[in-house]
Amino acid sequence: MTATADAAISTAVPNAGARTPPARSVPWASPGSAAAKRSLIGLSRVELAGALTAIGVPEKQARMRVQQLWHWLYVRGSQDFGDMSNVSKDLRTGLADAYTLSRPEIAAEQISADGTRKWLLRLPGDGPGAAAHEVECVYIPESDRGTLCVSSQIGCTLNCSFCHTGTQRLVRNLTPAEIVGQVMVARDRLGDFTGMERAKGPGLPTEGERCVSNIVMMGMGEPLYNFEAVRDGLAMVQDGEGLAISRRRITLSTSGVVPMIGRCGAETGVMLAVSLHAVRDELRDVLVPLNRKYPIAELLAACRNYPGVSNARRITFEYVMLKGVNDSLADARELVRLLKGIPAKINLIPFNPWPGTQYECSDWEQIERFSEIVFNAGYASPVRTPRGRDILAACGQLKSATEKLSARERMALRAMAMTDE
Ligand code: SAH
Ligand code: SF4
Repeated sequence: MTATADAAISTAVPNAGARTPPARSVPWASPGSAAAKRSLIGLSRVELAGALTAIGVPEKQARMRVQQLWHWLYVRGSQDFGDMSNVSKDLRTGLADAYTLSRPEIAAEQISADGTRKWLLRLPGDGPGAAAHEVECVYIPESDRGTLCVSSQIGCTLNCSFCHTGTQRLVRNLTPAEIVGQVMVARDRLGDFTGMERAKGPGLPTEGERCVSNIVMMGMGEPLYNFEAVRDGLAMVQDGEGLAISRRRITLSTSGVVPMIGRCGAETGVMLAVSLHAVRDELRDVLVPLNRKYPIAELLAACRNYPGVSNARRITFEYVMLKGVNDSLADARELVRLLKGIPAKINLIPFNPWPGTQYECSDWEQIERFSEIVFNAGYASPVRTPRGRDILAACGQLKSATEKLSARERMALRAMAMTDE
């Protein structure tokens, strides 16, 4: 088996074939209309057992078969039932007749010189015949890890005033299979499954066993407004006999859906990041309108009670740096005061501007002054040095038709990708 990964600077991936938009329950069916086959990717073990019994595998055998399939799907990244050497030939044929192993369709792929990769995935719209939609999935490599930024919804119902996604109306929630599918696509393209040839190229991790070692739920959407699907998708991502990314290497970012924070800790055990962005309710009401429902004091109380929070498992507070809006030194001091007593990390995120936005990113000197106050209060220096020219040059080389990753966007992503593990 060979990997499909490549190390070109930028590659547009041709469509995997003409396809009619499949129904939602068949997230990425194979080409063909009425008899479209269902992909097994992203089904839970119970659903997979159901898929086996549906093609005549006796129930008693199904458990063992699920175990075998799980290994081929998630450890080996198999895309062909024919590879499954320990599965009988009859069953392989039966599986291939009824199902596929297809992943979400890649509409475009961009690879920058520093190794950052961005995939635009085409997913079906809401209901039969609805237009397809695209979600982004971004891979940020560092020497000792690789972080994948995963989406939870197509669009977002919350209208944070500085966020581009907030200007797009919600199209729909992603399914658990589509959440797992994003990880599968990244591992496919990076050759990051056992037995595959690893992708080559600058910037990829040189230490550690895996290219995709960490996950941040920081793509499109509010994960706690799609909690059950996110929880179930992340459970599959964590499965020790499959994709095996431990919960300590998974961070879920929320804009502050207070009633769901406890469940998130109790039912997923993943690391929590909170998009704070302001230290006063009047300002946070504008930046993150959900604050009107769940103000800062309630949000911080939920953080204090987050199941499993400790100095070893700190909550990350995200703070986007908006020039003249939330970046005064008084704001920095108030931030430190507010978070006192909460095992916390602070990520200062340079604002990434988008067409039509009223905000600007804070000046670099101001970010440094702000970060110094945070640093002197005992928090690790949270902003990374811009990678300036190198990255701008890389951007000039990106050829795909989709939006380019700006230097600032990449910086923001790197800041977000910071986790201890
Ligand atoms: N909905 C969730 C997760 C997705 S957004 C949340 O809001 O936390 C991931 C992070 O990116 C959040 O901290 C968000 O506030 C931040 N973000 C959104 N737009 C941004 C922009 N234009 N520049 C920098 N950070 C941004
Ligand atoms: Fe953007 Fe997150 Fe706010 Fe949604 S909740 S608008 S994704 S920042």
